[in-house]
Amino acid sequence: MPAAPKRTAPIAAAAPPLVIARTASANALFQAPLTAPVLNTAEKILQLQAMNTSEVSICTKCVLCKTRKQTVFGEGDPDAKIFFIGEGPGETEDQTGRPFVGKAGQLLDKMIAAMGLRRDQVFIANIVKCRPPGNRVPEPAEVESCTPYLERQLEIVRPQAIVTLGLPAARYMLQSAASMGSMRGRFHSWRGIQLMPTYHPAYVLRSYTKQTREAVWSDLQQVMALVKLPGAARKSKETT
Ligand code: URA
Ligand code: SF4
Repeated sequence: MPAAPKRTAPIAAAAPPLVIARTASANALFQAPLTAPVLNTAEKILQLQAMNTSEVSICTKCVLCKTRKQTVFGEGDPDAKIFFIGEGPGETEDQTGRPFVGKAGQLLDKMIAAMGLRRDQVFIANIVKCRPPGNRVPEPAEVESCTPYLERQLEIVRPQAIVTLGLPAARYMLQSAASMGSMRGRFHSWRGIQLMPTYHPAYVLRSYTKQTREAVWSDLQQVMALVKLPGAARKSKETT
């Protein structure tokens, strides 16, 4: 098992602002509800596969293409009700081409199981598709280059809820420089889709306190209630 990311400070303290100043009209576009038609499952699969094969897997839009082993497109149910967004591939993800398969991924798997779901019933992707060297936080320019792919993934999958994992994903999706403490715990809207920010599982592993774990579970329970999963009021043993 590869070593956990070698950050010494929590993401909340380490992350630089990911928000590039936008014009008022660009911000309005960011909030505009999605208007593209909702696709059937077969069309979703075709569009996701085409984006991965003919664009993402060969992408050279930012410098991360120079150091990656391979791209990590994301995976899951094209009809998922819940879409998780992480920060970027780590070492194991870069080696395998799959999102959240290292230590943080094992905790994410437990979180998903505690919600009463299997991993293949949700969709999992990242704000950047290539590993930042040394697992550094992606640079704003890298995020700007890569997130059109994520936005198209969301437009295709059309989940009922988005869960951002960690500060960089929340800050980008909400175009906010706010702290995790002030963003998590309540729903926000991303282009008409309910978005719940919560802590990154790698942060939960580094800050393994009852308080952090209860906060994540309470965020996930709100998401479960929104998408009408049973057990939304249950106390979790699985995430502790
Ligand atoms: N951390 C992330 O943010 N994404 C992954 O895919 C793996 C670890
Ligand atoms: Fe392309 Fe995204 Fe990889 Fe940059 S991180 S090279 S934009 S796929």
